[in-house]
Amino acid sequence: MADPWQECMDHCLAVTMEAGKMIREALKKDISIMQKSSPVDLVTETDQKVEALIISSIKEKYPTHSFIGEESVAAGAPSILTDNPTWIIDPIDGTTNFVHRFPFVSVSIGFAVKKEIEFGIVYSCIEEKMYTARKGKGAFCNGAPIRVSEQKDITKSLVLTEMGLRTDPEHFKASMSNIQKILSIPVHGIRCPGSAAVNMCLVACGSADAYYHIGIHCWDMAGGAAIISEAGGVIMDVTGGPFDLMSRRLITASSTAIAERIAQQLQVFPCGRDDTVG
Ligand SMILES: [Mg+2]
Repeated sequence: MADPWQECMDHCLAVTMEAGKMIREALKKDISIMQKSSPVDLVTETDQKVEALIISSIKEKYPTHSFIGEESVAAGAPSILTDNPTWIIDPIDGTTNFVHRFPFVSVSIGFAVKKEIEFGIVYSCIEEKMYTARKGKGAFCNGAPIRVSEQKDITKSLVLTEMGLRTDPEHFKASMSNIQKILSIPVHGIRCPGSAAVNMCLVACGSADAYYHIGIHCWDMAGGAAIISEAGGVIMDVTGGPFDLMSRRLITASSTAIAERIAQQLQVFPCGRDDTVG
């Protein structure tokens, strides 16, 4: 039987290329910055324009499909994953990088049917690296197959996470203490590249061995989740349980041993869910 979602993936690839080009063009001009939930939660006109471009292009072709887009949700759209074919979109993952012209900025799109991710595309558009994965068919960067590292020993691993201001002092403390706990295992180092989707792809291609994060969103993870799984990596909840796309947290790693070791170290603090209506 022909793959029912291949055509969607081909369309996704074309629109992601176009989105990446729009972001590169925007970097040549002045960037005006607006605030979302806090002084460090930034958005630009480009985030909004790129999301509008992606959604309108997909809607035109697939009018019955559903969408969860970061900027649409910020503007009040619901963020509920149903069984309907759903496009989960982060038009710019790494907006802070984008405003500083720090070169890890990506477009991330995951496509889920019956709540299962069928394919993911992450375009690190300054590096011009296009990561793709179709369920059961492997993961690729610019068309070449990618694979996680062989590393199973956490003391020889490079770990990714993200840090930023947290308004709740207790959560801030837990987040900083988690960094200290991981570094003290010890590991070779921690890096914070600034784009969750790129972080997942860095683990997928073996440039890092793990990535953990508490407080991200489904649009940061959906595209990368397909890529990490197809590259032979593991993806789990920060408690060591099964990964939940709407839970706002994850550990990905090259091996179960490394992921579980990180889960043991982490102090989990509440970060809410993406699908709570409120
Ligand atoms: Mg974004």
